[in-house]
Order: sequence, then structure tokens, then C-alpha cells
Amino acid sequence: MDKRSFIRVSLLGAAGLFAFSSRAKGIASRILRKAAGRRTDFVQPKLPYAFNALEPYIDGQTMELHYMQHHASYTQRFNEAAKALGIVEKPAREILADVSKYPEALRNNGGGYLNHVLFWNMMSPDGGGNPSGVLLEAINRDFHSVEAFQEQFNNAAKTVFGSGWAWLIVKDNRLVITTTQNQDNPLMDVVTDKGFPLLCLDVWEHAYYMKNQNRRPDYINAFWNVVNWDYVSKRYTFWQKKYAGIA
Ligand code: MN
Repeated sequence: MDKRSFIRVSLLGAAGLFAFSSRAKGIASRILRKAAGRRTDFVQPKLPYAFNALEPYIDGQTMELHYMQHHASYTQRFNEAAKALGIVEKPAREILADVSKYPEALRNNGGGYLNHVLFWNMMSPDGGGNPSGVLLEAINRDFHSVEAFQEQFNNAAKTVFGSGWAWLIVKDNRLVITTTQNQDNPLMDVVTDKGFPLLCLDVWEHAYYMKNQNRRPDYINAFWNVVNWDYVSKRYTFWQKKYAGIA
């Protein structure tokens, strides 16, 4: 082999090696990404209805911005925060239950992620009406009537100062109405009223300002027309099976 052939073969060999190694790197990084995804990827679930499906009670433009911008951004930042902390294979609810151990970003974005997942499911174009079955019995037991429960929930939602949420939760085996600030969730170890969330209402201005401007009570009244009582009942039944009797 003369010097020129030697250089040519070496260059070809180096090019081949480079091509191979970059392909291998591509495959390796795909596998790593997949593994990382399995560990910390919190997915924004598909909205179970069209953006405009809750009209005239909740307008389509608000729903689209709320889901596509606000919720998508909480989801992305929750993933980033969880990845940065090396949190692996932990459901969101478990992370939130220990949220005091983590930086603020996880509290805000983890709450923002889970609260909205719950909220979308709490509503339905086929919603409204009244609760029934064991949920109705529990509401009557703890609030005397559905009307009294709604009045108390409305007052709680109206009086959240600034941004936050109104909730119906199970606490110490009783139904309780509570509120949280910002994106806090009743599952978090940092809230006053810890409990299992059954129903929630987002009272951040981004949830109603385009349609109702500063009239939060109008939005709260409209909400009852789209409440998905079937889903709320399912959550109550799940709680009964899993936690009833545990103080
Ligand atoms: Mn929101």
C-alpha cells in the first residue's frame, strides 16, 4: 500500500467508524430518551371533549387557551422540574403528598399539572343536574342538602383571594369544602385541609376572564351546568374502597 492509498483507506475507515458511532449514538439516545420518558414523563391527557363542547357555560376560546397554553406549560415545567431532581417512577399524587421536600417549582407546576387533569374530567357537555347514589347520601349527611352544599361551595369559590381553587374533599371520612391558593392541591402536605379531592373549580382569572371579565360569581354559577357528577361519584367510590375507615 502506498502512502496515498493508506491515507485513503484510513480516511474511509474513519468515516465509516464515524458513521457507525453516530448511528449508535442515535439509537442509544433514543433508548435513553424512551427510558427517561417512562420514568418522569407526565403526559397531558387528551381533553375528553371539544374545546367548545361546554358552551354556552364555558367558552371555547377560554378552554383552548387554558388547555393548550396554561395546562401545557404546567405539564412541561413539571416534567423539567422532576427530571432536574432525578425523580423516577413516581405518580404525580405521590410527589404532591411529599411536596414540602421539594423546591417551589415542583409545588407550583406539579399542582398545576394535576389540578387541571382533574378539572377537565370534572366537567362534561353531558354534565349538570344533581349528584346521586352514595355521593348524594354523603352530601346530605354532611351538608344537609345539595342546595346548602352548593351555597357553601359557591361562597368558598367566590372568596378565594387572588388565584386559587375551590374543592370538595374527603377529610377524616367526612365531605369538606376547602380552598387552596395558587396551584396547591389538597393532597399536598403543605395545605391546611388535607384530603382526597372529589370536585374542584379553578378560580384563576385565566379560567373565566375572557367570558365573564371580573364577574367570578357568573362563572361559578355556570360551572354547575357542566359538572360531571358521574366522575365525582367514581372518585368517591374509589375513595370508599381504598380509604374508608382510615382516619
Ligand atoms: Mn387554570
